[in-house]
Amino acid sequence: MSVEMRTPIPVKEAIESVIQVVKHKEPFTLSVEESLNYILAEDVQATYDIPRFNKSPYDGFAINSQDSQGATGDNRIAFKVVDHIGAGTPSNVKLKNGEAVRIMTGAPIPDGADAVVMFEQTVENEHGFTIRKSFEQGENISFKGEECREQDIVLDKGQQINSGVIAVLATFGYQHVKVFQKPTVAIIATGSELVGPKDPLEPGKIRNSNGPMIEALCRDINIETTTYEIQEDNLQGCIDIVKKAMMQHDIVITTGGVSVGDFDYLPKVYEAIDAEVLFNKVQMRPGSVTTVAYKDNHILFGLSGNPSACYSGFHLFTKPAIQKMMAAQEIYPVIIEAILNEDFKKANPFTRFIRAKISFSNDGVYAAPSGFNKSNAVVAIAKSNGMIILPSGTRGYAKGDKVKVLLTDHQSYERALNL
Ligand code: AMP
Ligand code: MG
Repeated sequence: MSVEMRTPIPVKEAIESVIQVVKHKEPFTLSVEESLNYILAEDVQATYDIPRFNKSPYDGFAINSQDSQGATGDNRIAFKVVDHIGAGTPSNVKLKNGEAVRIMTGAPIPDGADAVVMFEQTVENEHGFTIRKSFEQGENISFKGEECREQDIVLDKGQQINSGVIAVLATFGYQHVKVFQKPTVAIIATGSELVGPKDPLEPGKIRNSNGPMIEALCRDINIETTTYEIQEDNLQGCIDIVKKAMMQHDIVITTGGVSVGDFDYLPKVYEAIDAEVLFNKVQMRPGSVTTVAYKDNHILFGLSGNPSACYSGFHLFTKPAIQKMMAAQEIYPVIIEAILNEDFKKANPFTRFIRAKISFSNDGVYAAPSGFNKSNAVVAIAKSNGMIILPSGTRGYAKGDKVKVLLTDHQSYERALNL
């Protein structure tokens, strides 16, 4: 038997080849309550001015500013309170000289009033209150339309729906919204050695950690998945399950069986289902055997069975593809610079990705491996919040070198943004 020869391509080229074939899904309409985390497929217009009317931003008294001119600590000016309103009900009175309306936050400014005096700025008496300073016209008033005007585009197509977007849609009374569909994802762990969490560990068996890990990685970006049963290394079984998954899902993620071993059947599966293999060897470690294939708008990610390689492959290839399919604007991982906290003396012909603990401190961002970091490592994944990227080359790297790191969790994105 001869070993199949594969041509390794650079990581960047591999990522681009995936992104190039991925198209976003069609938009559809769904209720605002269900729309969290989808991507807006339409601009959203204000249906009226915000604020809708001049209103009080404080609890206090609405006055005519002219009546307050000349007020000082030694010359307090008195007002008579002629009405009392809370948010939700306008006052019927029109203010006359020296009159005020007791007004609560959110209530409309009464006719004849053009300023609001906060409670804290008054001394109350039997018929009203006195003040010790003059007020300007418009002081302490939230003006109609000061935030946005009717028909303004307040949200742009392409924005991810977050809690603020939900608030805006609610503000304008939208009950439905047009969003891009999310891709559906199937997960298949392959390997005759794999068993589930409750199964006994017979000799030679190991537990399937990649399946649950990929489910969690998808859930982290708000993508639901369907997990198929563990598939043993059997060609026909692999073909059948991948075919079935492909009929029902946009994306099929398999782990294992993608290398050149005697029982690695995924390359034969792609052949059997006539999928176009975009690449089957990448200049990276771990996960050089990562394979991506494509057929009729379905993408097949053949991730390595080694947990660390599987994890890196997901972040580098699968996640950007999923994000592009759901029409997200930011699809690539966040990459920042950090100072290496450990030596990596050996030169490597491939780019290395090392699960790492990225720490953010006042004197800089540091990166250190998060544990044992061979491709089959699993614990170091759990302790990582990023990956150190060591480009290929003829020399190694030393502690203190500046390197790029890819951030893998939300908290680190935010910390990096705040630097
Ligand atoms: P493979 O990619 O099938 O050659 O598998 C590479 C290594 O990863 C082997 O040691 C497998 O036993 C292990 N492996 C494969 N699939 C999984 C999985 N789902 N969870 C944990 N380890 C796995
Ligand atoms: Mg295997």
